Amino acid sequence: MKDTTNATPVVLVTGGSRGIGRATCLAFAKAGYDVAVNYAGNEKAAEETAAACRALNPEGRFSIYRADVADADAVDALFKQIKTDYGRLDVLVNNAGITRDNLIALTKPEDFDAVIATDLRGVFLCMKAAGRMMMRQRHGRIINVSSVVGLRGNAGQVSYAAAKAGVIGMTKSLAKELGRRNVTVNAVAPGFIQTDMTDALDDKQKAAASQDIPLNRLGTPEDVAGVIAFLASDAAAYITGQVIPVDGGMAI
Ligand code: NAP
Repeated sequence: MKDTTNATPVVLVTGGSRGIGRATCLAFAKAGYDVAVNYAGNEKAAEETAAACRALNPEGRFSIYRADVADADAVDALFKQIKTDYGRLDVLVNNAGITRDNLIALTKPEDFDAVIATDLRGVFLCMKAAGRMMMRQRHGRIINVSSVVGLRGNAGQVSYAAAKAGVIGMTKSLAKELGRRNVTVNAVAPGFIQTDMTDALDDKQKAAASQDIPLNRLGTPEDVAGVIAFLASDAAAYITGQVIPVDGGMAI
């Protein structure tokens, strides 16, 4: 998304070091964006993402930012630094997320709190900070990574489902708040995507999961990144408050 000044657009991808976040950084680098890559602790992976972006676009600016999205002070410092480094923010992708899956009887309150802190509070904090910048700019795109689990629920994922359903509620609410400022807010709801997050399953379990998916395969991070990049593009200028499943038909 370019504004009227035609300056190079800037995107912040939270959790950009690995998985869907990394593929998203690469999709934006390919589209000519400068990319701010956020990560929690895995600096090597974040550096690798930035290097892969540079390989795609040697002219672009690709920096890494360590920050826990659940920490209000850290998020404040992150957005201040991005303002200093880039002077603007055109697109925010709220991708950082964790799971602590278990049946509710076995879920400790602190595990529930950890998932809500990163997957829900983190999205709230980043949207609040980005919204402030984007309202002033009078343009912007916010894209939240929810989940098919936030739409349908899933046994053993009560905490995660609560956070991801909450993200959908926040997406629709903020779309209504910021529409008049030319800021769109949308979400994607990935299905079963092959990343570190889903690596715990063995090949047999993955094959079984594929059978419930009409397109008969697990998704790739690139499948999701392409839709995120679309939602940031001029072609999606009149879409806001929507949740786009990227799940091979799993949620039908
Ligand atoms: P992943 O491979 O486990 O990567 C998680 C990313 O989030 C990493 O970059 C990690 O940074 C970062 N992160 C975690 N906690 C953070 C925090 N507190 N602050 C900042 N960054 C943090 O996950 P993924 O599968 O790509 O998932 C990405 C998003 O898609 C998540 O929101 C997830 O819930 C959602 N999703 C995934 C699937 C799936 O099947 N994989 C399905 C639906 C939705 P470090 O590298 O520094 O640890």
